[in-house]
Formats: sequence, structure tokens, C-alpha cells
Amino acid sequence: LVSKKWKVEDTVIDLGDGIQLGTGHFGIMAGPCSIESEEQIEKTITHLQQEGVRIMRGGVYKPRSSPYSFRGLGIDGLKMWYKRTREAGIKIITEVMMVEQIEAMADYVDVFQVGARNSQNFNLLDALGEVDKPVLLKRGISGTIDELLQAAEYIFSNGNERVMLCERGIRSYETAYRNTMDVNAIAMLKEKTHLPVIADPSHGIGLRRYVDKIALASIMAGADGVIMEVHEQPEKAFSDGQQTLSFPEAARLYRRMRQAYELR
Ligand code: PEP
Ligand code: MN
Repeated sequence: LVSKKWKVEDTVIDLGDGIQLGTGHFGIMAGPCSIESEEQIEKTITHLQQEGVRIMRGGVYKPRSSPYSFRGLGIDGLKMWYKRTREAGIKIITEVMMVEQIEAMADYVDVFQVGARNSQNFNLLDALGEVDKPVLLKRGISGTIDELLQAAEYIFSNGNERVMLCERGIRSYETAYRNTMDVNAIAMLKEKTHLPVIADPSHGIGLRRYVDKIALASIMAGADGVIMEVHEQPEKAFSDGQQTLSFPEAARLYRRMRQAYELR
């Protein structure tokens, strides 16, 4: 069902308030790795408003490699975040880790994110197929392109056709950077599926100083949007600071990405 053989016309996802994602509608989602505090939310919103970015990312449930790392503010953090973004006219994308979280989160979320570690959590995918919210599905850390498409098929076939795919880098033998951004996959996915394809250059390389280059390369490969980590003080971020851009760095990249998309 997610194949272009089944549906020729590309899927464009409408988030309301004039925000669309998909072919012809480039979108930027930016925000911290983790939602940390009310102050951080306000500073980020001000930055996004200044730059015309209308979707804010952030985790309130964090799948951390170590259980001793910061694991997120949970549902109370989400409610606080929601209150602020509603006033500002900004949409929320955030990760859901378990089926049990969906119901409580649904009222406060504009896009559910499925993380790389849950990319083949088929119970979660089935459950998100019954939800009336768009889903951004990340590729598994060692997932193939075909496995990503099959995972999307779970959500789609269960009734939710508002699915976006996200290339966020895969595990390779290379240790010089965190993940290997598979730009090849972006080009191929755009050919194989009618679903929007989003690039995550932050996790894709994992090192701040290359995020701009990888983001631009992803757009040239065909990405319909970019999700990226930004923070007022990246070095103080509770998680993923090493791959997070400061507001001025991010602002410069938004402009370059929009130009690149126009030129494509
Ligand atoms: C994130 O977006 O912060 C995240 C945890 O991403 P991933 O699932 O791709 O590791
Ligand atoms: Mn992160």
C-alpha cells in the first residue's frame, strides 16, 4: 500500500493551519533532543517563530542507551509544552515508546514519532494504525529500506495513511561518527513510495559541525523535510548536545535548506 505501484500520486500530509509535508511542501521540524524545562520550551519557541519554523520536535519519553541517562519529563512535560506551542501556533512532534502511552498523549501531539529502536515494534505500529494523527516512522538502527517500508505498511494497512518515513542514519562499521547517513536510501525511497521522506541529519552523523552538510545533501537526494536538533546552549543539553545546533547555526541552515529545496 505504501508503494508507488499502488498509489501513483504522492501523499501530502496536512497538519492544519496551512502546514503541509510531502512532495512540493518542504518542512522543517526543529527543537531539542529532550524537552527539559518551561524556560527551554519558551526560548525554543521564540527562536522557531523568528525563523518561520512551525513544527517543534522534542522528546518527553527518551529511549536512552543507558538507563542512568535523562529519560524525559513524561506526560506532564508534554502538557506544559502543548500549552506553550498552542499559544504560539506551533505543532508538536514527539516520540511514543509504548502502546500504553498513545491514548494519554494523543490530545497533545500533532505527529507521533516512532524511534529507530521501535521501528519494528509491530504492536506499536499496529496501534498507531488506529490513531487519527500522522506518524513519523524512523528507520531502524540496522534496518533495511525494505524493512522500513514493511514497518510503514503495518501502520498504513491498519487504517492510518498519514505516515512519513525518516532516514536517521544506520549502524555501520565506521566509528569516526555516530551513524552513517544513508543518503542513497532517501533517493531510493522517493522512487519506491508515495509517502513523504524526512531526513534527520542530527542523528544521521551525530556531530554538530557536519549537520548542515548532511542536511543539504539529503535535500538534494530528494528529502521532503528535515528534522533536526537545536538548543539555546547545545553544550548544556540533557541529551545529544554533541549533534545539536545553536540557534544562530540553525537559523543559517534553515535559510540554506530552503534555498537548496528551491534550487532542486
Ligand atoms: C530522537 O529523535 O531524539 C531519537 C531518539 O532518535 P532515534 O530514534 O532516531 O535514535
Ligand atoms: Mn536525539
